[in-house]
Amino acid sequence: MTKRQLTIVQLYPDDMNIYGDWGNVLTVKKRAEWHGFEVELIDYNVGDIFPESADILIGGGGQDSGQLKVQADLQKLAPTLQALADDDTPMLMICGLYQLFGRFFKTSKGQIIDGIGIFHAETHAGPERLIGNIVTHNEQFGDIIGYENHSGQTYIDSNMQPLGTIVRGAGNNGQDETEGCIYRNVIGTYLHGSLLPKNPAIADALIEEAAKKKFGDFTPTVIEDRFASKARDVALKRPR
Ligand code: GLN
Repeated sequence: MTKRQLTIVQLYPDDMNIYGDWGNVLTVKKRAEWHGFEVELIDYNVGDIFPESADILIGGGGQDSGQLKVQADLQKLAPTLQALADDDTPMLMICGLYQLFGRFFKTSKGQIIDGIGIFHAETHAGPERLIGNIVTHNEQFGDIIGYENHSGQTYIDSNMQPLGTIVRGAGNNGQDETEGCIYRNVIGTYLHGSLLPKNPAIADALIEEAAKKKFGDFTPTVIEDRFASKARDVALKRPR
């Protein structure tokens, strides 16, 4: 019997991939395989032809300069990405791409880098970088553990859900106790680290949504997450 296949598309790995974000792609790939799927991994970089099928999209963070490099191409992809998002395709966008999935990022020099507005949110560079270990809480995923490093302060509109509420750290803007944003199955977050090795519940949720959408069902394998649990315990004890 041929295995059921999921296609993961990694957005802009050449320019937007920092602080271990690549680990998110590896985690989803490995866990999807453990759950019984065959995984096709496609890199999409500036100027590429967007793949015909994309079951899960993952994007990382980057410098302001990386965001500038991808912004024009991202605008071209906007209708495709919006349609995929509206159609419940699971996506995970970290930091720099999280910002550009909102309306815009205004840099410390006052330059506007346009986003695509899937998240009703906007980001303004603040006076100091928000850096350090961070823990947030989400009802479905429990404690979410990671590392943040961003100048941007993101404000999500009142019609949007944050990913988590702050337990420790700064999050979206250091003020309103929110972190990240969720639109349908699209998750945006500032958490690097990588995020998913330490938060396998989020990886499995992306896989589950993709499988249900494509095949109508999902039967998880019970994965022994001893090392993920250990990593979580250690990360929780790290200083800010
Ligand atoms: N350049 C953005 C900021 O500093 C994104 C940083 C990142 O992706 N780590 O806000």
